[in-house]
Parts: sequence; structure tokens; C-alpha cells
Amino acid sequence: MKKLIIILFIISSFLVAQEIDTVTYKICINAGHGGHTSNDRPPSTPAGYWESEGNLTRALALETIFKNYGIVDVNDTTRAKFSIVMTRRHNRHSDNLYLSSICQIANSNNSDWMQSIHSNATGLTASTRHTTLLLYPGPTGDSRINGLAGYPKAPQEMALASIMANNISKALQTTGTSLAGDWSFYGTGKPYLGVFRTLQVPGTLSEGTFHDYYPETYRLQNLDFRINESWAIAISFFDQFNLPEPEMANLAGIIRTYEEKVNYPYGAGSNDQYKPVDSIKITIYPVGSPDSSRIYNGNTTMYIDKYTPQWSQITSGSPISSTNWATIDNNSDYDYYMNGYNNNHGYNRNNGFYLFDSLAYGSYVIIYEAPGFWPDTGSVTIDDSKFFWTKNHFMVSSAPPYVKTNTPKANEPEHPAWEPIVLGFSHVMDT
Ligand SMILES: [Zn+2]
Repeated sequence: MKKLIIILFIISSFLVAQEIDTVTYKICINAGHGGHTSNDRPPSTPAGYWESEGNLTRALALETIFKNYGIVDVNDTTRAKFSIVMTRRHNRHSDNLYLSSICQIANSNNSDWMQSIHSNATGLTASTRHTTLLLYPGPTGDSRINGLAGYPKAPQEMALASIMANNISKALQTTGTSLAGDWSFYGTGKPYLGVFRTLQVPGTLSEGTFHDYYPETYRLQNLDFRINESWAIAISFFDQFNLPEPEMANLAGIIRTYEEKVNYPYGAGSNDQYKPVDSIKITIYPVGSPDSSRIYNGNTTMYIDKYTPQWSQITSGSPISSTNWATIDNNSDYDYYMNGYNNNHGYNRNNGFYLFDSLAYGSYVIIYEAPGFWPDTGSVTIDDSKFFWTKNHFMVSSAPPYVKTNTPKANEPEHPAWEPIVLGFSHVMDT
């Protein structure tokens, strides 16, 4: 009898185990470009941002997020997980594959999706555009599979493009979104983009923001800004496949000061006209629990322990100048794609960006500090109504106020008595 019970127990466990299916979503991640040649979108501003590096950072962080997502319960009988295929994991010239090879990798792995990651550029010297663009194969409004005979319709591409554009825009605070099919966007009326042309599985290409908009290009040099975009791409796939979002949220923001304006182009009327604050220290803790503080230090990255093992900087044999990492070099095959903490050669600056990822729902106290500014305290309540939370902040200089502008001007020969005398102070004055 005892034996029978054991056998029955084994059989019933087996039957229960049989009832749960695990669905694996295979995503092929393509970090656009590769290496440091003139075709890898070299820095267009003094911020020093290479698109080939930024795309890889986002791809690697995205891979990590998918892996950390693990196996999730979808319902009583189904679980789901992701399996990732990377088209490159380094940033050497040799990692720059033919676009047809990228399609081939996605096809031969029977991927459920191919996601190509890029950032955009206007090619203008004083651009003020920073919007999010999502491209898919096919005419605009009629997404297709370009690599299959007859170009079958694939409406899921437009659906994901729409979700992803919105998520990236929220994560990066871009000023708008647009979606387009490559047949229409490039005006060819037929397959155009190489990364879609022979693709036989659904695919999308994200141009998260513009890397020739000065304020954005400084933010892009903060790895956490790129990582928040990776979160946006990952969350979009969870939404697309009706998988549960992680029960937590991301809080990001930009710290600036009204007291100084930037000396490069910015979007008219936008807060980007004000100077970002360097060396910020942002502390956040659940209300009543200062012992549980998390601290974000500006000009560095909080994810160094979590992500560093897969990122590296190989400098040996590189002929580029160690004092100018933005140097274009068409010959070297150096593998450099880490602009963060201890590796940034001063390039993570002038962005004022901070990120707290994986915050539990609840109410928090936030303390803003930076050298030369008065500390400030704020609060935020994070709930499950959205994933990307934004809290920008302006800091006030702790230097004594001084008269910055005055009318009449000094030594003005005469000033009409009916015109007012105006003093402009360095700080906002409580008059
Ligand atoms: Zn690109």
C-alpha cells in the first residue's frame, strides 16, 4: 500500500508538472553599427558620444534585464521567459556585421523578434530636436515581413513600435514620438533598410533619441540614461507579449539651476536652456526609514557592480589619444564602450541626470545635494500606475547673490528720469 501511495504521488506530481507550459520568447538584439570608424556615428558634439558605443551599452543592459526577469507565471498553466541572441557583444570594427548577416542570425535562430537599437541624428550643427522614432518593415501603417515572399502582413510590429516609442519617450523625456514603415519613410515603396530586407521574423528598429542635440548628447554620456532606455525596451516586450511587468518602478530626473544658462543650442522655451548640475548626490529613502537610503552620485554610475563584468575597455594597442577618446580612428580595432565610473575619462558630466531603478511601491523622501548649492528635500509616491516616474529639480546656488545686470549701465552719460532703475540678481530674489 505504501508503495502504491508513493507511485501515485509520483504519477500525480508528474501530471501536475506536465500541465505547466513554459513559453520561451527568443529575442535577437542588434546593437547598431560597431567599432570606431567614420560610419559608426562619431561624436558630433564635445560630449564625445559614439552611437556605436551607446547602442551596445543599451543592448547589454537590455540582455541583463531580460535575464534577470527570469521565469514568470503568466497564469495557472503557463510560465514564460526570454532567451536572447546578441548580434554583437563588443565594439570593435570586426563586430560591425553586414546587415544581411544580422537578418541571417535572427532568422536561423528562429527568433520571435529582432530588435535593432540605434540613436538618431539630424546632421545639423545646431539641432534642437530630440524625439523618439520607431521603424518597422513595410509601408507606414501596414507593417510587413520584408524577407518573406509576398511580404505578409505583421500588425504586431506596429503594435510593439507604438508601445516602445511611448515607453522610451517617457524614460528619456523626449519631446515626442513617431512611427514609420521603411517603405514609406525612405520613399522607396519597397523594402529599404538592410536590417529588415531579408528579415523573416517580426522586427523593429528604435531611434531612442537624437545624439546631435547638445543637451541630450551629454545625457547620453551618463550610462544610467542609456540603461533607462533599455528598461523601456524591455518593458515594451513584456507589454507586447502580455507578460507581467515587474512590481516596481524607475524614478529618473534631471537636476539643473535657473541661475546659469547653457552656451550651446537648446529647445526653445525648454528647461534644457538651464545648466545641469554636476556632482549631484541624490538620497532617497522610504518615509520614516532613513536607514534604508539609496544614494545616487552624479558623474558616475550606480550600476557598476551589476553590469561591469560584461563591459570592458581594452586600451592596449590603441593608437588613440588617452586625453581625447572621441578621436576618430579608422584603422584600430579597439574595444571601447564603457563611459561610466572610473572609465569615463571625464565624459560623464554636464547632464544632471539621476536614476533609481527597481524602486518598491511606496512614499519616499528625496534629498538633493551638490557642492555650491543649498540642499533641498522633496517627496514622491511611487505606485503601479506607471513604470517610468520623472522628477526634475532645480537647485539654488549657496553663493551670496550679486548684481548681475543693471539699468542704467555703469558710466551711462545720462538716464531719463522716467525710465526705471532695474537690478538683476544672480539668484531669484524674494522682493
Ligand atoms: Zn544608427
